[in-house]
Amino acid sequence: MLIIMKPNATLKDVSQVLQEIKRLGLKSYMSKGEDRSIIGLVGNRMKVLPDQFEAIPGVDKVVSISEPYKLASREFKAENSVFQVRGTAIGSDKVVVMAGPCAIETREQVMETAWAVRESGARFLRGGAFKPRTSPYSFHGLKEKGLELLHEVKEKTGLLVVTEVIAPEHVKLVGQVADVFQIGTRNMQNFALLEEIGKSDKPVLLKRGMMATVKELLMAAEYILSNGNSRVILCERGIRTFERYTRNTLDLAAIPLLHELTHLPVCVDPSHGTGTRSLVLPVSKAAVAVGADALLIEVHPHPEEALSDGNQSLNLQEYKRLMQELIPVVAAVGRSL
Ligand code: PEP
Ligand code: MN
Repeated sequence: MLIIMKPNATLKDVSQVLQEIKRLGLKSYMSKGEDRSIIGLVGNRMKVLPDQFEAIPGVDKVVSISEPYKLASREFKAENSVFQVRGTAIGSDKVVVMAGPCAIETREQVMETAWAVRESGARFLRGGAFKPRTSPYSFHGLKEKGLELLHEVKEKTGLLVVTEVIAPEHVKLVGQVADVFQIGTRNMQNFALLEEIGKSDKPVLLKRGMMATVKELLMAAEYILSNGNSRVILCERGIRTFERYTRNTLDLAAIPLLHELTHLPVCVDPSHGTGTRSLVLPVSKAAVAVGADALLIEVHPHPEEALSDGNQSLNLQEYKRLMQELIPVVAAVGRSL
């Protein structure tokens, strides 16, 4: 349910509404729009009668949110959400590039990649220290050692870091290094993890489950938002279809669709979305053209030697070329890199 305040509502009016919500034992969420405040009220609708609120001074009207995701919806917040991550805005007119290896493997590998992607215009280094793998026999990341290397990257290059967290009990540890937490496709519906991340104050890159609908992605985001963390970046990374030439089928239409349905920024991962190095550049251009706010690109100094996802990783020269070729596309949609 949404309580829409009048444009001239006073702080006293707003606090009266918040008190009433508290008295009913429900949770409230504020959305401060350009000309009015909207208060989201989440809980059991049966307990609340619209009249209870409509009688309070400063309340314009009480409406119910039609979608099952409430705080993520455009109805709750009409303007795009723009988050600041240590001075870098996500969701603004600048497209943010997060680039780096699938997994942190060695100091040389991560440092070489970090300097190269920084030089070509990335703001974030991506790289997994904890890797959820389909096979128990695959490389599962350097874990704590990987986090230490990411810490060194931050100190030396000034890059921001996005890295995956795979278990609720790791949130504190990974949070010591991550500027943005990544939740991978395999964990999109790990509700205990979503709740724990929801209680943290770090932004989250939430990847679409490989078999999840757009609505399920938004419901997963709702778990994080409803636990108090409002900085969720949604990430389209391809879904599983019958097509086997590509590793996944990148759902390009999901990008403008998400912008219609939600105020949250949208990132696109053309690396996992295609699984094929030669497709990463053209698909990155397409993603930006349809409204991606950020790109997540796998880059490795020697993809043929990578311990994971080498087939879809760009080498350093290919990454540089991608950044150059993106410039006119980004400009064509009124944005910059
Ligand atoms: C990754 O980013 O390396 C990764 C494991 O991604 P996903 O969860 O989308 O497979
Ligand atoms: Mn990967």
